[in-house]
Amino acid sequence: MLSLARRSTPVTSTAYRALSAWSAVPAGPPDPILGVSEAFKADKDPRKINLGVGAYRDEHGKPYILTSVKKAEELVTSSNPDKEYLPITGHAEFTKNAAKLAYGADSIPLTQGAIAVTQSISGTGALRIGGAFLARHYPNAKIIYLPTPSWGNHTPIFRDSGLEVRGYRYFNKETVGLDFEGLKADLLAAPEQSIVLLHACAHNPTGIDPTDEQWKEISNIVKEKKLFPFFDMAYQGFATGSISNDAFAVRHFVAEGHQVALAQSFAKNMGLYGERVGAFSLTTADPEEKARVDSQLKIVIRPMYSNPPLHGARIANAILANEALYGEWETEVKSMADRIISMREKLYNILTHDLKTPGEWGHIKSQIGMFSFTGLTPAHTQVLAEKAHVYMTRDGRISMAGLNSGNIEHFATSVDSAVKGNL
Ligand code: PLP
Repeated sequence: MLSLARRSTPVTSTAYRALSAWSAVPAGPPDPILGVSEAFKADKDPRKINLGVGAYRDEHGKPYILTSVKKAEELVTSSNPDKEYLPITGHAEFTKNAAKLAYGADSIPLTQGAIAVTQSISGTGALRIGGAFLARHYPNAKIIYLPTPSWGNHTPIFRDSGLEVRGYRYFNKETVGLDFEGLKADLLAAPEQSIVLLHACAHNPTGIDPTDEQWKEISNIVKEKKLFPFFDMAYQGFATGSISNDAFAVRHFVAEGHQVALAQSFAKNMGLYGERVGAFSLTTADPEEKARVDSQLKIVIRPMYSNPPLHGARIANAILANEALYGEWETEVKSMADRIISMREKLYNILTHDLKTPGEWGHIKSQIGMFSFTGLTPAHTQVLAEKAHVYMTRDGRISMAGLNSGNIEHFATSVDSAVKGNL
C-alpha cells in the first residue's frame, strides 16, 4: 500500500476542484440590500451616502446606541448573570413583556393567559418560526398572501417554510400611495381561510400604511373571508414615535376577535440589530389550547437552533420591566422617529421649493417609518451610485435614517440632477 501511495501522481488543485461535491453548485445572486452595503464600502469618495440598509443612523451618520439600552446593559452586567442555556422558548419574563408591549396590558387574550409566545432570533426568526408552525399546523390551505411589494426576505422565508406564496396589491405607482381598492379586491378574491401577511406599521419598502379607518375595513374583509392575519411588526414606535399608536392594527384586530400570529423585532426600536432579539406569538382560545400550542412551538424550534441567545433578551427585558428605563426608551424612540420625520420635511422642501425638481414629491412627507419609496427608477439609482456616490436599492427605496443635515444637500442636488438627466 505504501509503495502505491508513493507512486501515485500528486493531486493538483484542478483535480481537487473536479472532485468537489459542490462543483455543480451554481453561484446565487447577491442579496440586493447587503449588495448595496458592499458597493458603498468599496467606494472611497468622502461624500458617499448609504441609504440602502434599514438601520438607524444619528445626526452624524453613525450607528446609535440608545442611552436606555446602555443603562439596561449596565444593569444586566452588574448583576453578574450566568451564561446558562435559556429554555427553548426563551427568557420567560422578556416574552411576557414583549407580548404586553404589542397587544397592550389590557388585551383580553393576554389577561386570559391565552397568548402563546416564544423568543425568536429577531424578527426574521419570528417570521420563520411562524411560517414553520403554520406549515405544520394550520388546518386550512397553506397559502400566504404578501403585499406587493413587500420586504424582500418575506417570500423566501415563507417559501422555505413550506407555504405557497401569493401576492395582493398594495402600491399604486401612479399616486405613489396605497392601492386600497386593489388591496381590498385581492383579499376578497383570495380563497377563504388563506393566510394574509400584514405589516403592522411602517410598511417596508413603501413607507405607506393604511389609515385607522382602512385597517378597520381590512379587518372586516379578513373576517368575512375567514382569512388568517399574520402581522409583521418590525418597527413598533418608528412609524409615529408612539408605541401604542403603532400597535393600532394588531390591537384592533385582536379586539375584533381575530386570532392572529405576530412577529416582533427589537432590532430597530431598541437598536439591538446584532443582538437578535424578537418574539413570535399566537393568540389562542384559552390557556389549555395555549399550552398545546406552546408544546408544538417547542417542537418546531428545538431542531432549528435549540434555544435563543441570552444577552439581548436580558437587555430588552431590563427596559420593558423597569418603569424609569421604559420611559426613557419611549422618549428615545420618539426622538429617532422625529429625526426621520424632520428629514422628510427637509428633503421635500429642498426638492420642491429650492431645486424645483420635476415631479411630485409629497409622498416623501406623507410616507411613514424608516423608508421612503422615492419613485426613482433603477436607471436613476445606478447613475446616483456611479456619479454621486449615493447608494440605495434598485427599486428607489431609501432609508430616511441615513440622511442628516450634513449630507441631505448632496443627496437632494444629486437626485435633482439625476431626474433632470444631467448628473
Ligand atoms: N420585517 C420587516 C418588514 C423588516 O423590514 C425587517 C428588517 O428589515 C424584519 C422583518 C426583520 O428584521 P430583523 O430580523 O433584523 O429583526
